[in-house]
Amino acid sequence: MGKEIFSSDYRRSPYWWEAFSPPAASELEASSRFDVIVIGAGYAGVCCALTLAKAGVRVGVIEAGALGQGASTRNGGQVSGGVNVQKKALTSGIESDAQREARLAARMRDAAASMSYVESLIAEHAIECGWHKTGRLTAMWTPAHYEAWKERIAPLNEYTNAGARMVSSDSLADEIGSPLYHGAALIERAGHVHPALLYQGLLAAARAAGAKFLSHTPVERLDREPGGYRLKTAKGEFHADSVVVATNGYTGSLTPYLKRRILPIASHMIATEELSSDLARSILPTNRAVSESRRVVNHYRLSSDGRRLVFGGRARFTPTGEDTTARLLYQAMVKRFPQLKGVKISHSWGGNVAMTFDSMPHLGGVDGLYYAVGCNGSGVAMMSYLGHSVANKMLVAKDEPVNAFDDGDIPRHPLYFGNTWFLFAVGTWYQYLDAKDQKNARKS
Ligand SMILES: Cc1cc2nc3c(=O)[nH]c(=O)nc-3n(C[C@H](O)[C@H](O)[C@H](O)COP(=O)(O)OP(=O)(O)OC[C@H]3O[C@@H](n4cnc5c(N)ncnc54)[C@H](O)[C@@H]3O)c2cc1C
Repeated sequence: MGKEIFSSDYRRSPYWWEAFSPPAASELEASSRFDVIVIGAGYAGVCCALTLAKAGVRVGVIEAGALGQGASTRNGGQVSGGVNVQKKALTSGIESDAQREARLAARMRDAAASMSYVESLIAEHAIECGWHKTGRLTAMWTPAHYEAWKERIAPLNEYTNAGARMVSSDSLADEIGSPLYHGAALIERAGHVHPALLYQGLLAAARAAGAKFLSHTPVERLDREPGGYRLKTAKGEFHADSVVVATNGYTGSLTPYLKRRILPIASHMIATEELSSDLARSILPTNRAVSESRRVVNHYRLSSDGRRLVFGGRARFTPTGEDTTARLLYQAMVKRFPQLKGVKISHSWGGNVAMTFDSMPHLGGVDGLYYAVGCNGSGVAMMSYLGHSVANKMLVAKDEPVNAFDDGDIPRHPLYFGNTWFLFAVGTWYQYLDAKDQKNARKS
């Protein structure tokens, strides 16, 4: 497969940036003092600033790159409230059954609240961001996955009001035009959004509320000083009573505590050139967002205008250029949708997600230093909500736990110091197991 998969206007940047490209900002003066400074201007940082500014707090946001250029304008835009938290909680934890159930219920309710929060922001600020509440499918990789998933429907409906149900193999053609899957689970209370337009609307709302932004300025040092914190940057020093760290998959040495607890992992996406409406409809006739039940997940949806397929996943487990990840994702896409053979790729890009050792997002902090991190690949709603929640922790809860993700320490592994050297081996092993599962499913 050579250059022929790329369209003549192919770009190595997010398709979403055609509508909104991360901007520069210089609204903060060096040596200025704020009540709160937020480090990182993704959904979490912006929503934290929005809530604080609305409450009359003087808040500044300092961002290493252009505003929103982290994961928040690069993602797949799939939004749901609870399904990912449920999946991750089921595969982790050492608690008793009762403890686990109670904690799972609390987390799922808060995950559902994260989706309500984003929907309320879209409505309140009239954000035009292609919000299609058309539901989300988890496509089953094997018949065993389909059987196992049935157990998850009742709690999803009970705790998150998901409108969840199974879709059998026989009915799947009405939902996904692919011969590859063994049925699906449908979550009605879910959908997809244009992630960069959502970001643009949130940023505008935070600015209108009075939050100030500074781009292209990595915070290099963070030190305690009497009455608060001093932040050192190449553009001078800044001072704040409190600091919120919202650096997620771009967390570095600035915060060693978080660096030891977060695994930054690259995730990749492609967009196709415009498809005929018949072809687009043949892939996703009901315009739902799709994810998969396998270990190394691919996910996809139509663009907000319904004219392209936007397809993502972990293409490689080592640093790889956009052309190579595009070729790998193209192969995966055509395997699922043979009707797309010959269609060209117009955009290829990647970004970082933040995995944690318990597969859960976390917020917390005390004494003027707070964090909201650990999206585990699913943070359009969750990280926005955690940014807002960490603001409420300061404003309302006065450092008491503010929701089910504010649960103390973030777990760490004794052998992990911030270098993900082992990912290639683990990821490749998971890909092998996925392929083996599928081969066995074909035989049965
Ligand atoms: C390819 C891809 C697809 C995804 N698909 C989905 C999806 O379909 N649905 C979903 O829910 N989630 C998805 N996600 C996850 C989602 O995008 C993230 O969870 C969310 O954007 C995280 O927001 P955030 O504000 O926490 O972090 P980010 O948006 O990543 O922002 C963190 C910011 O911190 C800045 N920063 C780091 N260090 C410093 C420093 N020292 N000084 C100043 N600034 C600093 C970074 O530059 C960055 O801009 C996807 C992610 C990727 C990469």
